[in-house]
Amino acid sequence: ISVWGSVVAGPPDPILGVTEKFKADKSPKKINLGVGAYRDGNGKPYVLPTVKKAEQKLFEAKMDKEYLPITGLGSFTKLAAELAYGKDSKPLVEDRLAISQSISGTGALRIAMAFLGKFHETSKTIYLPTPTWGNHIPIAKDSGLTVKHYKYFDKDTVGLDFEGMKADIKSAPDGSIVLLHACAHNPTGVDPTEAQWRELSDLVKEKKHFAFFDMAYQGFASGDILKDAYAVRYFVEQGHQILLCQSFAKNMGLYGERVGAVSFVCDSPEEKAKVDSQLKIIVRPMYSNPPVHGARLVSEILGNQELYNEWLVEVKGMADRIIDMRTKLYDTLVRLETPGEWKHIKSQIGMFSFTGLKPEQVEKLAEKASIYLTKDGRISMAGLNDGNVEYFAESVSKAVK
Ligand code: PLP
Repeated sequence: ISVWGSVVAGPPDPILGVTEKFKADKSPKKINLGVGAYRDGNGKPYVLPTVKKAEQKLFEAKMDKEYLPITGLGSFTKLAAELAYGKDSKPLVEDRLAISQSISGTGALRIAMAFLGKFHETSKTIYLPTPTWGNHIPIAKDSGLTVKHYKYFDKDTVGLDFEGMKADIKSAPDGSIVLLHACAHNPTGVDPTEAQWRELSDLVKEKKHFAFFDMAYQGFASGDILKDAYAVRYFVEQGHQILLCQSFAKNMGLYGERVGAVSFVCDSPEEKAKVDSQLKIIVRPMYSNPPVHGARLVSEILGNQELYNEWLVEVKGMADRIIDMRTKLYDTLVRLETPGEWKHIKSQIGMFSFTGLKPEQVEKLAEKASIYLTKDGRISMAGLNDGNVEYFAESVSKAVK
């Protein structure tokens, strides 16, 4: 008998499954709208010109390959914190931000939740929006947290259920952990307005909840790094001791480099030092220390005024291409007199759009048009371009008629 004879096959990852089906399809018209990675106007992966320049610099510098410290490259974490919080934010100026480099956004979430599981005194229950990025749930469970949900998406309006969201956050026991998508909510593309964020800040404070921000798309959502950081910076200004997860996968196109950061706003430099020591104790047995290359690339770009300015243009370029596709898709759907209301395609933000397509329609699109998306009707806007948006809109129009 085999050692692993009792292992039963687990379910496949729902998003990677979409890619498998796409690959097997022979149609020249096929489109993959499942995967959450940016594609350029020709449907190809995009390496940012600033990343290429930074790579050239690193190559020429012939740097060594020594281990990084447990919490990563100091120049990187400093610049990452400044990008998210702002150079003048109080926690940075007062030296009370504990921060660690992480294995991209996912690794940041894993460290953050492990830390909460160990040290968050008032509650080990985390409230996630319905729906949320699929990986939030197993990361929380694997970290020993109890998962509960708050209302977020309103199927009828294909928008935010703000009243439902507030009611659920209000009825959670005082001192709960509330996870908030800082911008470009995945999978819906629906974000609170700035006024709604201010209300949420008051509510979270009143309930003594802990605000946990996942910011995987700073700059990528609106094209403006400040606008996308609004919620994070506002909460910090209001005195929330937030926890923040950052990723450079999308906004620098560094998906496979796995570079991110997790940070904790502390009360004092002394508290920061204690939190920092415990972060090391969490990271050390997980993976000892993070990879160096991606962190060096980010440091080169954020730390050099010229490259930084160029990067701001590039990140806006990616966001603008997606926003342009939203307009084109909407206009074509309307021109084709597609039944239903499609305004949400334009108002949603970031990589994804929740189309409102039903599972039967999603299936029809795969069978009849070789168009692949997840069953929930989510499309990655980055998969659309001038060459296929028309075909996609026509196919959607047929599928809903
Ligand atoms: N959080 C959200 C909401 C995401 O959408 C993603 C990526 O899709 C991540 C975190 C983490 O991504 P990564 O680990 O590639 O940085």
